[in-house]
Amino acid sequence: MRHRVELINKAFAASIKEEDYSGSYRGVFPIKVNQLREVIEEIQDAGQPYNYGLEAGSKPELMIALAMHENKEALIICNGYKDEDYIRLALYGTKIGKKAVIVAEQLSEVSRIIDIAKQLKVKPIIGFRARLNAQGEGKWALSSGDSAKFGLSTGEMLEACRLLESERLEDSLQLLHFHIGSQVPNMLTLKNAVVEGARYYCQLKKMGFAMGLLDVGGGLGIDYDGSRSNYDSSTNYTLEEYARDTVFNIKQICDSMEVPCPDIVSESGRAVSAPHSVLITEVVGRISKKDSMLKVAKDDIKHQVVADLYEMLNGRIRYGRLEKFHDALQKKEEAHSLFNLGYIDLEGRAQADSLFWQICSKLDNGKPRGYQPEELLDLKRLLADQYVCNFSVFQSLLDHWALDQLFPVAPLARHKERPSVNAILVDITCDSDGKVSKFIDLEDEKEYLPLHNLKKNEPYYLGIFLVGAYQDIMGDMHNLFGRVNEAHVFLEDDEEDGFYIEDTIYGNRVKDVLESVQYKSDSLCRQMKKQIDKAIKKDFVKPREGVRFMEMYEEQIQKKTYLDLESLKKSKPKR
Ligand SMILES: *Cc1c(COP(=O)(O)O)cnc(C)c1O
Repeated sequence: MRHRVELINKAFAASIKEEDYSGSYRGVFPIKVNQLREVIEEIQDAGQPYNYGLEAGSKPELMIALAMHENKEALIICNGYKDEDYIRLALYGTKIGKKAVIVAEQLSEVSRIIDIAKQLKVKPIIGFRARLNAQGEGKWALSSGDSAKFGLSTGEMLEACRLLESERLEDSLQLLHFHIGSQVPNMLTLKNAVVEGARYYCQLKKMGFAMGLLDVGGGLGIDYDGSRSNYDSSTNYTLEEYARDTVFNIKQICDSMEVPCPDIVSESGRAVSAPHSVLITEVVGRISKKDSMLKVAKDDIKHQVVADLYEMLNGRIRYGRLEKFHDALQKKEEAHSLFNLGYIDLEGRAQADSLFWQICSKLDNGKPRGYQPEELLDLKRLLADQYVCNFSVFQSLLDHWALDQLFPVAPLARHKERPSVNAILVDITCDSDGKVSKFIDLEDEKEYLPLHNLKKNEPYYLGIFLVGAYQDIMGDMHNLFGRVNEAHVFLEDDEEDGFYIEDTIYGNRVKDVLESVQYKSDSLCRQMKKQIDKAIKKDFVKPREGVRFMEMYEEQIQKKTYLDLESLKKSKPKR
């Protein structure tokens, strides 16, 4: 976290020096990207020497920003839709000496700011959010452009200017802001936005407003898949290039319009916070087509369709791989129809299924040369194992589910051992969408991940990386799993192991998640007890057993929501 804050501040400082730029960099961290107190504290601490500030997009976030912000030189940028209380809070901030810039998203906010500032007798610091024509690219492209829900159109901006002039508040307008969306994969898109934004800035400055700050918003992306491309999960530029281009383009425009260079504000959230966090999940089981294949002996076969499949697998007739695949598929489907009509029994169907998958395995194992038909390439995906992992995609990896965003996934041990299993990851929610089945590949995406065989009595951990932006807070309570355990790890050269664990925070307990949906644990326990007592009276259970059940119920309510792996290990099936 600290490293990222330093990296972005140093990158801008270096570019400013290189370009002989007269302004400075006054970055802010957008709280919405990761609101966790420890994260904000660390960012504030690391950002202190650079006067790195905070950005808020809602009232609760502003409450965080106001209290956590102590460096009077650092900015607080107030974005988002604002009611009177939001504006009043921000203005009180200004009153006690903070540089809280209220960015008007809508025309109506401007008059509201003016009115409340008058009441509070404070000079507001105002910014305008421009609705740029330059469209974002990537998944958040609609954050800008003519029909975006944010920002002032050119007509509205002119009207806002007149309003400020009529109130003699030319000194109050100090910032121009724009934000074209998050994870912008293409440098050119960012550049177009900066050019347009800088023009707006210069125009406002020339109209006689104080100005001084140009806020280029967020959008600085993370190269999640490492491809350095303008693919959605990547970026075709580095953080250093971003800083250099931003500084260079602003300077060019300002010089050409003979306007002094502004201080540059950026609201980079994802780029600052994504790398600090890794999700660690243990593989708790494996669902495998290979494991479930029966050995079929010729003498046990009772049905023609099964015999045909057997022949296809073991016979001597040689024919094309694709043809073989199609024939096998057809036979398997025939077997399913016969089962549905009652003509073959469970054993027959199991034999047919097993033989089919054995044929597929064999087709997939060959080392074919030259062009491969798509259906055969797809066999790897069809044959991939499912590794069951003790987590919820909906809690911890929401953007993979919602937006198909790719994250790097890798086993945390056995790095010198060649992986032998192709697998996808499935979570423990009762939702077929609870899975990770798209992975990073050298080109494009891959539909399975090479992993190691699971060993008995040896835990197998996977790391899912770059999850420090947005995932924590966007995650939801699907199936009531709730928050995961957290360890806050600090790298420290002086420590023997090179790190220390500052804190551990337990994930949600059953009690916590039940309360979030309006259940009180004591009333649940009371309801349970009433029913157990009744069952004892009716002699369904012995009193002692009833008591044991009740004790267990009460105990579980205090326990974790995710799988208890110790109990799983005790009862693993033997294979
Ligand atoms: C979300 C948001 C950001 C952060 O964007 P990143 O792409 O994560 O850097 C910055 N500014 C505004 C106004 C936002 O809404």
